[in-house]
Amino acid sequence: MARDAGMDYESFYRQSVEQPEVFWAEQARRIHWDTPPKQILDQSRPPFRRWFVGGTTNLCHNAVDRHLAARAEQLALVAVSSETGITREFTYRELHREVNAFAAVLQSLGVGKGDRVVVYLPNIAEAVFAMLACTRIGAIHSVVFGGFAAHNLALRIDDAQPKLLVCADAGMRAGKVIPYKPLVDAALNEASAPPPHVLLVDRGLDPQMNRVPGRDVDYAGLRARHEGAEVPVAWLESNEPSYLLYTSGTTGKPKGVQRDTGGYAVAMAMSIRCIFDIAPGQVMFSTSDVGWAVGHSYNVYGPLIGGATSLLYEGLPTRPDPGVWWGLCEKYGVHSMFSSPTAVRVLKKQDAGWLHKHDLSKLRWLFLAGEPLDEPTAQWINAELGVPVVDNYWQTETGWPAITLMPGLEMKPARLGSPGLPAPGYKMKVIDENTGREVPAGSKGVLVLEPPLPPGCLSTIWRDDDRYVHSYFSHFRELLYSSLDWAIRDADGYTFILGRTDDVINVSGHRLGTREIEESVAGHPAVAEAAVVGVKDELKGQVPVVFATLKQAAGAGAADVARGMQQCVVEQLGSVAKPARVYVVGALPKTRSGKLLRRSLQALAEQRDPGDLSTLDDPAALEEIRKALERGPDQEN
Ligand code: AMP
Repeated sequence: MARDAGMDYESFYRQSVEQPEVFWAEQARRIHWDTPPKQILDQSRPPFRRWFVGGTTNLCHNAVDRHLAARAEQLALVAVSSETGITREFTYRELHREVNAFAAVLQSLGVGKGDRVVVYLPNIAEAVFAMLACTRIGAIHSVVFGGFAAHNLALRIDDAQPKLLVCADAGMRAGKVIPYKPLVDAALNEASAPPPHVLLVDRGLDPQMNRVPGRDVDYAGLRARHEGAEVPVAWLESNEPSYLLYTSGTTGKPKGVQRDTGGYAVAMAMSIRCIFDIAPGQVMFSTSDVGWAVGHSYNVYGPLIGGATSLLYEGLPTRPDPGVWWGLCEKYGVHSMFSSPTAVRVLKKQDAGWLHKHDLSKLRWLFLAGEPLDEPTAQWINAELGVPVVDNYWQTETGWPAITLMPGLEMKPARLGSPGLPAPGYKMKVIDENTGREVPAGSKGVLVLEPPLPPGCLSTIWRDDDRYVHSYFSHFRELLYSSLDWAIRDADGYTFILGRTDDVINVSGHRLGTREIEESVAGHPAVAEAAVVGVKDELKGQVPVVFATLKQAAGAGAADVARGMQQCVVEQLGSVAKPARVYVVGALPKTRSGKLLRRSLQALAEQRDPGDLSTLDDPAALEEIRKALERGPDQEN
């Protein structure tokens, strides 16, 4: 086992950046290697880097098989659905059995090493089985969040070109059945490279589910045939891909964040222990959906590689009552909980008595991430729960926290408004966006990382090395990873995140590209042009707001078209991206070269000063926006 007990944060961090090879060689001992690495770090082709070169390992083996000797009868996974009212518990032995059966089913459908499998499932146990089954046989999973609609799914299918798509008949939200299969059918119709098979996890929620003969196969039947199968793990070289996770960027095309195998396993093993303070046998409850980066890392791989019990939850934090999460913490003796500021803001609107009804004496930490944590929210939950709140900053790209405190190692004092200090391996700077020079403590700049990125961070963008370099490493003269976030660092190294530098917005911790929403809105036949901006929202952090001009011959009334725009977004991208407000206007503010002044639009919508307008082409357009804001939206959520 790697050294960490008794180590202070400063020494740990210092070694991770000053002697990365020594540090990570030590951390690599936390996982099982079939063949030990020959070289810890290969930086011969920056900004690419390869960790643990020549070492062979397997994520599923480390998450499941490895624990059979010591903890076969311990709970590995508890999948709770407050929607169906069903709780399913799996020990490590049972998880092993399920994953093997799933892996055998995958193989029976022709899936092998290197093949992609798109997983489009709700937050249910089968999503975890599917992911682990893929990594077991060396197939590359690409989980798509169940809240995304057909077009979003089709884009991901076309990029990943999967051999198989795994989906459920339906999900449920607030007691309402949400059929998934019609979305899959629509996505496969739209996709240019649809997979030959769809594997259906039928939960019996949608009796009307249709099946395409020859293409669609039922998981239950195949599972019965393969139950008891033992599928050997595929030992992968550390740098072979384990999974893809698509995320939004500045263009309409999502980026396939590619994760390696060995580096990710080591990052998970270290972070679950040293950041999340989870020891083998303890219980981790992450309220995330498996479709997000947090879900991958701290609902599946982190806790399981760490020999812990992972609690997976399908449902809302307020149903059947606002005490549901705290009841689970009590029942399972949760040690570390991981959620989002939005979820806490939702609970803050409820009677705190729901929280006090439960014995939370085992709960040690509440981790929150995904969006800025505002002070009132942090203070409220901290006071009510009586446990420290640990804000942590990361991105789909990093796969694990980049800025955080590390209670599993040494809990440093928190500073309100800051996620804390750099995590091991992250060499951070805040630099001036124009000069690329480091700004003084207390000044605003762009948060950047000096290569090499630590293990676990993305290795590239799927089949697009150029886009990887261009998206992240081409912003400054020096070869630096741009986080595309504004930040301020204080004199002690505590970093404060001030929001994105690009057109990405954050709705309830969900990352959305305004361009994707614009493309979708512009698909409405009456729309001439649309601009989408993220506007501050008390509950969700930010919400998408649309400003659109109509074609001359649009005919229909503004309110109808505005409603139609919302509909387009829900149908193509999913309800997570639904614009909160739509304003139909006569013109959009642009620069003389024709670029939309999104930042000015956003500022006006937030009742702020629109900023530098020296490049504005037509001042009347800005007046139009002001008037529209005064008048109120043509359509509101
Ligand atoms: P995602 O890739 O969906 O995890 O979104 C990453 C983005 O969310 C980051 O670039 C930040 O803008 C934002 N973010 C994540 N965690 C935090 C945090 N703790 N504080 C402030 N912003 C955050």
